Amino acid sequence: MSDAGTSRDWVVVGLDNGGTTNNATVLDASGRFLPDRMIESPSLVKEGPAVAIEAMVEALENVLKTTGTDQTTVRAVGLDTPGPATAEGVISSKGATNFVHPDWYGYDVRTALENRLELPVVYSNDGNAAALYAHHVHFGALSPERSSLAVIIGTGLGAGLVESGRVIRGAAGMAAELGHVSIPLDGLLEADQPVPRCNCGLSGDAESFASLTGIEKNLLPYWLTRYPDHELARAESLAKAARLVRGYGERGDPMARRIFEQQAAAIGRLFTIASNFTDPHAYFLGGGVVEAQPQFRDWYLASVQRYTALREEQARVARFALVPDRDMAGARGAALAALDMVGPP
Ligand SMILES: [Zn+2]
Repeated sequence: MSDAGTSRDWVVVGLDNGGTTNNATVLDASGRFLPDRMIESPSLVKEGPAVAIEAMVEALENVLKTTGTDQTTVRAVGLDTPGPATAEGVISSKGATNFVHPDWYGYDVRTALENRLELPVVYSNDGNAAALYAHHVHFGALSPERSSLAVIIGTGLGAGLVESGRVIRGAAGMAAELGHVSIPLDGLLEADQPVPRCNCGLSGDAESFASLTGIEKNLLPYWLTRYPDHELARAESLAKAARLVRGYGERGDPMARRIFEQQAAAIGRLFTIASNFTDPHAYFLGGGVVEAQPQFRDWYLASVQRYTALREEQARVARFALVPDRDMAGARGAALAALDMVGPP
């Protein structure tokens, strides 16, 4: 690490753009994050891109002020948003869960922010940003010599693949769209269980099991037929009930544990595919489960590991871990991607 004077000569800013909030961070040239907590502000995404871009500028100005950083020292900005979007930060022309305002369809958010700030903006999708952050925290100085895979379980299943310390983006920016990889179903489903369906049109892909949507549309409706007297059978809607399943799991509820065990088995099968494909040094798990009660969280991670069929040689070197700092992972990963682009001082 360089001395404090040199390391603060220039910085990069990380902006994590979410459905309701922006989270911002500052990363100095030595790789140190200046704020050690969340710096949040409203994202105003629902009001369309014109308003949202100004909200991003405000988030940036706010984090610079909070950390006592001069704006002239900012060399680049890392931005991450939920997808689907291209590698260059063009939001899908069909819209996206977070970007419902029609002005977002096909909107080039990276270029718009770059033009507004007159600074280079490096775009990452939120799965890639979290993956990059997990990789750097886990491997530290060894990051450039290590590879990892992260899956983030939220409304959908996000993922990111890091090789030699850098995110694999792919030709069209769609590398590591692991949610829509079909997994072997043999022995995974109960005899009378329908094959889960995904919003993407596939049946039996990873996201159809391992996502909040998968619980709501597939796992919970089936498992309620096996536990018809369960309290969640009387919930107002499946959407509301799905959000409560984790809490039941934390309390050891048998049905919730069956649901999460099936989800863990699906992720294990996905990791098994990855082990035959890129054979990463580490498998990371992120999303809401990171915040779960420790005993449940550890059981879930151990279940995923148990269902991942590694060869003996792989099992000796591979690590399974959680994505740290769930709420800050996006902003910090976006900042790391920007630092990587502008390079060492
Ligand atoms: Zn899918």
